[in-house]
Amino acid sequence: MLRPSQTKIIATVGPAILSVEKLVELIQAGVDVFRINAAHGKIDSFAANLALIRQAEKEADAPIAVLMDLAGPKMRLGEIEGGELDCVQGEKIRFIRGKTSPQKNWLTSTYEPLVDELNVGDRVLMCDGLVSVEITEKGKDYVEGVVVQSGVVRSRQGINLPGVKLSVKSLQPVDIDNAIWAVQNGIDYLGFSFVRTAEEIDELRDILVENKPAGKLLNTGIIAKIEKPEAVENLEQIVLAADGVMVARGDLGVEVDIAKMGVVQKEIIRVCRAMGKPVIVATQMLESMTHSRIPTRAEASDVANAVFDGADCIMLSGETAVGDYPVETVKTMHRIALETEKERAKRDDEQEPMVPCFYDDSEYTLLRPSSLVACAMAEAAVNIADTTEASAIIAATSTGRTALDLAQMRSTASTIGCSPVLEAARRMALYWGVIPMYLPEAKNYADIVAEAKKREYVETGEAVVLLTGQNVFKDSYNAVAVIEVQ
Ligand code: PEP
Repeated sequence: MLRPSQTKIIATVGPAILSVEKLVELIQAGVDVFRINAAHGKIDSFAANLALIRQAEKEADAPIAVLMDLAGPKMRLGEIEGGELDCVQGEKIRFIRGKTSPQKNWLTSTYEPLVDELNVGDRVLMCDGLVSVEITEKGKDYVEGVVVQSGVVRSRQGINLPGVKLSVKSLQPVDIDNAIWAVQNGIDYLGFSFVRTAEEIDELRDILVENKPAGKLLNTGIIAKIEKPEAVENLEQIVLAADGVMVARGDLGVEVDIAKMGVVQKEIIRVCRAMGKPVIVATQMLESMTHSRIPTRAEASDVANAVFDGADCIMLSGETAVGDYPVETVKTMHRIALETEKERAKRDDEQEPMVPCFYDDSEYTLLRPSSLVACAMAEAAVNIADTTEASAIIAATSTGRTALDLAQMRSTASTIGCSPVLEAARRMALYWGVIPMYLPEAKNYADIVAEAKKREYVETGEAVVLLTGQNVFKDSYNAVAVIEVQ
């Protein structure tokens, strides 16, 4: 069996991997979570992609989480005559209202209030920040600016307005429709793009709670994508409100000064670790592998640094969605993660202190707030595993919450999260160091250990710590036990 990396790998789906065979290959190469980017496609295509992923999950016989990123209010250019415009430094560009442009260097956008909300001195960035225009004049139906950084812009490319406070809501009507579809169709996590405040996360959570399948717990978590300066300002409240966080470096790197990128990334990881929330480092991790069999040295170090910093997950975007070498890219990421984790485990000074479990009694928290009892049990299990040099901790959990507590404590023994609930097992695929195991029919501890042994997660003669919650199976109670695998 391929040894899973403790740092989980997320791969974005796209034309390069849209077949069950390819998805299975990627799972076998180390993918734990697939991402569907709702910025591309409609519900029909999301449903088709989800069906392929679920089929691949079945064939690979491993619980897989699906993260669906809502598009959010991504601003885009309208149509440009001829498809593109060469913006030359010093030349004037005008942004106008409406959908059609009467003149070559007049640009339209999908964001209606653009002309109202831009002021003299603001900067408009296009083409992922490559092309920059500084606004110098404002009229009733236009704003005009001078190109500061040259480049070619194309129809429907994204626009970023760093530092401009926008009136647009982070959840657009299409995002709400997609979120409702997601919660009703077994999507495990929703990525909330361009989130700015914790209240927006509560708003999305309310929508999910109102629309979840009747009689079930809410099984869709919210991942806050940090990509706006306002989100960085409100970081702690956002981390507290969300189930996980993504350092969405694509837009973040355009919205905040690129020179601060590394500092902001480390701060986001630090806050998430302190609050016990999973954190994903995303975008351009192995970008050059989109068209190359090997990454750049800088990319290999970037992946390693995210692992050293304690990220729970590392993510691939275009590399797997449209890349020429999706399987090689996942294998490379997986190898870097394994090598780095080995080194990290050796460095005592780099080991974080145990994270105190975060207790939150908000009624909307996805996975039941961790109780003080559950925290104490998880902490005891980690300590016992350390002292007895146990090879694994097997956590029997119905919601996955116990496995999350263990993950956030960064137990050195490998953690097997066993759940009789499929949704919980899938959710655990995103948790650092947790090997999810779905076991609907376990009647007792022996059944769980037997399954772990069958799957070669544990071996005869090894010491294993068992951690169970109340009523995970009939008559189970909060307990920690040490056993020798028979
Ligand atoms: C990002 O901006 O880094 C990101 C992950 O979001 P998207 O791919 O939707 O732009």
